[in-house]
Amino acid sequence: MSIIHHLEEDILLDHAAGTLAEGFSLAVATHLAICPACRERYAMIEGTGGALLEDIEPAPDTDASWQSLRTRIADAPLPTAKPARRGSAGGSAPILPEPLRSYVGSDVDAIRWKAMPGAAQFIIQTRDGRAVARLLRIPAGKPVPEHTHRGMEMTLVLSGAFSDEDGTFTRGDIEIADGSLTHQPVATDDADCICLAVTEAPLKFKSWIVRLFQPVLGI
Ligand SMILES: [Zn+2]
Repeated sequence: MSIIHHLEEDILLDHAAGTLAEGFSLAVATHLAICPACRERYAMIEGTGGALLEDIEPAPDTDASWQSLRTRIADAPLPTAKPARRGSAGGSAPILPEPLRSYVGSDVDAIRWKAMPGAAQFIIQTRDGRAVARLLRIPAGKPVPEHTHRGMEMTLVLSGAFSDEDGTFTRGDIEIADGSLTHQPVATDDADCICLAVTEAPLKFKSWIVRLFQPVLGI
């Protein structure tokens, strides 16, 4: 299936300007690694915006996180247009593209998942701490607890698929939600859904049991 949920122009601009929190920039960079269409749009933005941006002094607090992401991206191998290994017995393309794989430290098969209500999670360390980035593994056919948002939430599907009020999201699709959206993503029946979820403030869960455990879970 091809990607149908892409990045908006303003997010691409913020990414180019380096004003996004590191976690959100990681989600954008990972979508760009998977999505040739947005890569093309982003290249145009960088090309036309580059001259303008040179005249703007970036804010000091965002500069550090952007430099940190830039360094990691520069160190990471470039995303390849085709899977590195294909056709050979047992060979398969990695589920986590760069720069995400370097942040996680491995591909998904080596992740030490931690239990949370309705799903498993792996917290990804970022240097600026302005947003929390995590990998979520939602069991096939299961929902994650219904919630709204206090700030922006980006969810990028890496494997499997989920559906919510905004449609169905498969590998590469990215959903950007805010306080106006209450949603309950449900993984499709065929496979577990693994996604990168980035939030800038704790989620607001409907269930008091989940709320009780929020401080422990860091969600
Ligand atoms: Zn795209």
